[in-house]
Amino acid sequence: MIPVKIQCGCGQRYVFDIEPVCGRMPGRVACPVCGQDGTRVANEIIAYTLASEMSHHDSHHDSVKETVMAGAVIGCLIAGLAGVVKALNMAGGFDVLLCLVGATVAFGMALGVYFWKR
Ligand SMILES: [Zn+2]
Repeated sequence: MIPVKIQCGCGQRYVFDIEPVCGRMPGRVACPVCGQDGTRVANEIIAYTLASEMSHHDSHHDSVKETVMAGAVIGCLIAGLAGVVKALNMAGGFDVLLCLVGATVAFGMALGVYFWKR
């Protein structure tokens, strides 16, 4: 649950707790006094809260970062391998060359990410 505090244009403040769906308000919300729509403001507050929660976790749990990095490296390696496999299965010389260049770039990215991490 995320506490959302909204200051309406009419001066009325209203507070509620919401369980966001896909990082957004599951429904609409309006000022209890003037009825002005507060959904957009609520969405901004939810986005801000989620973002600050994420950065908070990142600074205290390096393992999360490590996992993300490992995922990036593995993703790059898979892309590189897929490029090589594709090149091996192809007949045309130029297409194979393009695939190999793509694979090399993907491998280079993986290595770059790996060494940048250290
Ligand atoms: Zn209002």
